[in-house]
Amino acid sequence: SLTAKNIHLSFGSNHVLRGIDLHVGKGTTASVIGPSGSGKSTLLRVMNRLIEPDQGDIILDGKSVLKDNPDELRRRIGMVFQQFNLFPHKTVAENVSLALRKLRGMSKEQAREEALAQLDLVGLRHKADVRPATLSGGQQQRVAIARALAMSPEVMFFDEATSALDPELVKGVLALMADLASNGMTMVVVTHEMGFSRNVSDTVTFMDAGVVVESGPPEQLFTDPRTERLQGFLSDVL
Ligand code: ATP
Ligand code: MG
Repeated sequence: SLTAKNIHLSFGSNHVLRGIDLHVGKGTTASVIGPSGSGKSTLLRVMNRLIEPDQGDIILDGKSVLKDNPDELRRRIGMVFQQFNLFPHKTVAENVSLALRKLRGMSKEQAREEALAQLDLVGLRHKADVRPATLSGGQQQRVAIARALAMSPEVMFFDEATSALDPELVKGVLALMADLASNGMTMVVVTHEMGFSRNVSDTVTFMDAGVVVESGPPEQLFTDPRTERLQGFLSDVL
């Protein structure tokens, strides 16, 4: 499991995270929803230590990770962003195998085998030897997911993974994420897709202005929001 405890973070005088608690149990999916600027992306970046918190703790499998080397944590957590950030001059398979060679020290052949296996899982093995630009946005995002999965992460983070996609491509990526969830991946999913949040995630956390306003099972938050802030948010987005 992964737990963020009482996380505080300021950018200068902007107190962006104001005592955030978030817990995702092993093999479960936690979705994080909330208005723009509420601190969702910043929270993910703190939780995989791209940014150090001013206060609070991050606990992976019962152990605080704040004293470890941040690179090690980033190897244990796979991250998928809105922008896929694939290397344009490398093939799809090379994009997936690069980190396996650089960080895992695999041979070229071994890394390619592993990359092809991951591409198979996301339905794109047949695209292994083309450049990313020849793929649709949805296919590129699936490559980015394959690249993250290739590192055998213990936890996967998704930050608005479908927000940059054309509407007709969103479904395929969400279906892949739902597959991962049902296969027991531990995931933290920041999303504007209320259907995914409601139907796939085990818990929902609603953030606003740097605090967790409500958190609990989707059934509860979506059918019986307790705060005006969540009620207002849901009536805006649903
Ligand atoms: P969105 O839904 O639009 O992606 P968000 O909930 O992910 O919003 P964040 O990106 O976490 O919000 O931003 C939270 C606050 O932190 C905002 O006020 C933003 O301006 C500020 N912020 C984020 N990153 C930085 C940074 N690198 N330097 C300074 N301020 C930042
Ligand atoms: Mg964001």
